[in-house]
Amino acid sequence: MNAEEIAALLKKKAFDETELSPGVQAACDQMWGEHLTAAQIVDRIVDYVRRVGDEALLYFTNTIDRADLTAETLRVTEREFDEARTLVDPKVVDSMTRAIMNVKKFHEEQMPKSWITNRAHGSILGQKITPLDSVGIYVPGGTAAYPSSVIMNAVPAKVAGVPRIVMAAPPGKDGKLNPYVLVTAEKIGITEIYKMGGAQAIAALAFGTATVPKVNKITGPGNIFVTLAKKAVYGHVDIDMLAGPSEILIVADDSANPVYLAADLLSQAEHDPLASAILITDSERIAKAVAAEVEVQLKELPREEIAAASLRTMGKIILAKNMETVVAMANLSAPEHLEVMTKAPFQLMPLLHNCGAMFLGTDSPEPLGDYFAGPNHVLPTGGTAKFYSVLNVETFMKKTSIIAYTNKALLEAADDIIAMAEAEGLRAHANAIRKRQENNNNH
Ligand code: NAD
Repeated sequence: MNAEEIAALLKKKAFDETELSPGVQAACDQMWGEHLTAAQIVDRIVDYVRRVGDEALLYFTNTIDRADLTAETLRVTEREFDEARTLVDPKVVDSMTRAIMNVKKFHEEQMPKSWITNRAHGSILGQKITPLDSVGIYVPGGTAAYPSSVIMNAVPAKVAGVPRIVMAAPPGKDGKLNPYVLVTAEKIGITEIYKMGGAQAIAALAFGTATVPKVNKITGPGNIFVTLAKKAVYGHVDIDMLAGPSEILIVADDSANPVYLAADLLSQAEHDPLASAILITDSERIAKAVAAEVEVQLKELPREEIAAASLRTMGKIILAKNMETVVAMANLSAPEHLEVMTKAPFQLMPLLHNCGAMFLGTDSPEPLGDYFAGPNHVLPTGGTAKFYSVLNVETFMKKTSIIAYTNKALLEAADDIIAMAEAEGLRAHANAIRKRQENNNNH
């Protein structure tokens, strides 16, 4: 099999190839009174919110999410936080608190440092690291609630020192947010939260409305409407990445446990009918055992239908001729999550260079990273791990160069700078140096 055939075999759906499921498309057709693609719908929503502001934001929030919110009730109030605290199981909150600690500790290790260095003749060069002034965190919640996404976005932003962190999450029909989402946000210190979802939330954060402040960057995962909206507003604000349906790729040899492999494949398949779960192994025995075990475990899942749909369209068990081919395929696939279930996983680690997060060994299943270990779970998908990194502290920071030359250092560099500026036809650039040179010669 050549590289092209392998790439075709491993092909996953990138976000912009994703078609709406027939049910969602029908709902859209009814809402808009005509047949529109997801991208066309998003363009209309973003454009309307940008031009009209609050009124458009509330129209879409109340029409699509069937809430009944006004500009006055869009922001989560103190009373809603109070109510949320009474609705959560303290044991789950304790688990979340431990997860917050782990994620905080991990991201503190990532903290980049400002630095300065001395150059010839007393001049100084450096790099200043600054947190962004404001960020908008999107926490998905249309079909499920994701307090873990609050942790994975908000904690690195806090660690980075962002002074204004605004959160958006879609409301339920009762106009409320999931209590775990609220309690988790409050624990991290996020209290400016707006009940808005989808493309309208992203547009409001990007352009600002009378009620919602404009931010500098928007991060966080979401469905096709959210992702396409992030793409549409990119340039007006920065975004973290464009993430599509979730993926797991497991590389395994004969030493792996088929029960674990099946469980881990299903842990991604249950996310979404478009999620992809792929096993690549050089062991025929493992390939057959996992195929049988997946069938058994699938039937036990409450989300059996979603997982089955994912496996039908995107699931694969690939038998490769040796581990070298397994590794080559994994690198071509560039999965969001890569599990290495081999006898000596650390031997493969240096060879595996395209993935969002790597889970090494039997006792590092993917949900460990989703919820608890500390590394971030907002990861590049659709093969974009070839060029995107996992969400991290630097996502919320920017670098500024520092230049402080002395007179002597500038004079030494003057002729070089003038020569380059003149070669580019930029006389004023050259003059900025020349004036100083002349001034110096006159003294
Ligand atoms: P969501 O918040 O992303 O989307 C809900 C919003 O979609 C609604 O508020 C609505 O505005 C909009 N929408 C829905 N139907 C629409 C329509 N017909 N027309 C226009 N807009 C419409 O929540 P979701 O739908 O549950 O999706 C969450 C996604 O996030 C899933 O794909 C999940 O796998 C992903 N996710 C990823 C991670 C990660 O870290 N990678 C974590 C959690 C969730």
